[in-house]
Amino acid sequence: LVVLENVNKYFGELHVLKDIDLTIHRGEVVVVIGPSGGGKSTLCRTINRLEPIDDGTIRIDGQPLPEDGKELAQLRADVGMVFQSFNLFAHKTILQNVTLGPTKVKKTPAAEAEKYAMELLERVGIASQAEKYPAQLSGGQQQRAAIARALAMRPKVMLFDEPTSALDPEMIKEVLDVMTNLAAEGMTMVVVTHEMGFARASANKVVFMADGQIVEENTPEEFFTNARSDRAKDFLSKIL
Ligand code: ATP
Ligand code: MG
Repeated sequence: LVVLENVNKYFGELHVLKDIDLTIHRGEVVVVIGPSGGGKSTLCRTINRLEPIDDGTIRIDGQPLPEDGKELAQLRADVGMVFQSFNLFAHKTILQNVTLGPTKVKKTPAAEAEKYAMELLERVGIASQAEKYPAQLSGGQQQRAAIARALAMRPKVMLFDEPTSALDPEMIKEVLDVMTNLAAEGMTMVVVTHEMGFARASANKVVFMADGQIVEENTPEEFFTNARSDRAKDFLSKIL
């Protein structure tokens, strides 16, 4: 579904993505882990073209990423993204946050968008919060609202960049549960996370990134018990 070939990216002199080759199949859950500064966020951001790349190709459903215009808006609809900070619109209700994309970008009629938004809020367990503003919700609820907002666009793939890192421990589980359900329902997902429990339980593939390179691509079983690379072994010894 998503294919990166020989992707390279620089920030000035800094070579942040080095010859990245990665294939994400439909329905696959790919967990990306690795040390800080390794390029995990940049990788996510290139997939929905928040960051342009300098070399190589990224294809979604066989189509190269568009440069701009209408096609780029469609791409952003196809590729949902959830960040560490929830990025909800503060002056809109939770329901409005979820219906905004479909009504503005996809021209979905308001009633239909609201109906689907309420279904999604139900699914992530915060339907009762629909009329509240983001600041009135807990961090875990806000992040679940952000997930519902991304899902409202009916994306082909969902990117999660450390979605639970900013949350208090007791709220992490409620967000991970939503992600675990999405994975079980067959959503294609790329998840940057330090939550190794989620990786073990839901990942089809673990990608270990360091210094802008994919150092190791492995099954979660193999990766956590018998990582191939010394770099990954060293990383795991520090976090597990
Ligand atoms: P973390 O685990 O801390 O989130 P990461 O693996 O997500 O790290 P990136 O955020 O992708 O790493 O950063 C990769 C490298 O690119 C780092 O050296 C970072 O300082 C640099 N970088 C990231 N964004 C920019 C930017 N907009 N301009 C210049 N350098 C950047
Ligand atoms: Mg990051």
